[in-house]
Amino acid sequence: MLIKQIPIRNNLKNYMYLLACEKTHEAIAIDPLDHALCLKTANDMGLEIKIVANTHHHHDHIGGNDPVISATSAELVAHSEAMETIPNVDRGLNAGDKLVCGNLTLKIMDTPGHTMSHICLYFEGNDSNKPALFCGDTLFNAGVGRCDFGGDPIIMHQTFEEQIFLLSDNVRIYPGHDYIENNLEFTLDREPDNQSAKELKEKFNNGLDAESFISDIGLERQINVFFRLDEHRVRLGIADSLKIDVASLDRQKTFVGLRGLRDNW
Ligand SMILES: [Zn+2]
Repeated sequence: MLIKQIPIRNNLKNYMYLLACEKTHEAIAIDPLDHALCLKTANDMGLEIKIVANTHHHHDHIGGNDPVISATSAELVAHSEAMETIPNVDRGLNAGDKLVCGNLTLKIMDTPGHTMSHICLYFEGNDSNKPALFCGDTLFNAGVGRCDFGGDPIIMHQTFEEQIFLLSDNVRIYPGHDYIENNLEFTLDREPDNQSAKELKEKFNNGLDAESFISDIGLERQINVFFRLDEHRVRLGIADSLKIDVASLDRQKTFVGLRGLRDNW
């Protein structure tokens, strides 16, 4: 599988993606907000966009659909329950569905929390490619999506417990935005002694390019505070902010507490 991560460099620092079958050069465009850049990149790479996939209905993910589709006649796919909020969806997707493009197959995950109709697209991997997760605004590098634009942090926590935390360490992460540097600072605010987060932050300070940096689940378990719900330091901080005893905190309360702190951070 060919993966092209395309940074948009708008205020929200969106990423869009082209995923292509290496044999047929047929491609899926994920959340192609900057339609001109998406079409040009596909053209430069000799790819034919057959499918446009939206992870969710927010404008910064669907805003490029129409021009990409009129230029390519691609099929538009999204969560089956996002067919009311995203115009002109051709096919609604549900958990476990397969999205096929040439020899490329992605599995659909239903991951509510950021919005209540959000999908992630999972590539299982093969002999020459590690598995990969295209996770929209569910999982970010070193963070998770907000839940205050039509989502729910309790549901988001459930999505992580039941799906995201269960992924294997070698799954590469391709999120909907580049927020890694701020997110690392939030992790360090909660866990000042987190050595992995410190080292990675240092690398960015010394010029590592965030736009071409690809994380994986194994690294997220170390640098993403939302994966670290049993760490004593993290629990203590949340108990403190909620003014409750640390013993009464469970993983859900810790996750939701972290999301609340990050909203106002
Ligand atoms: Zn969003």
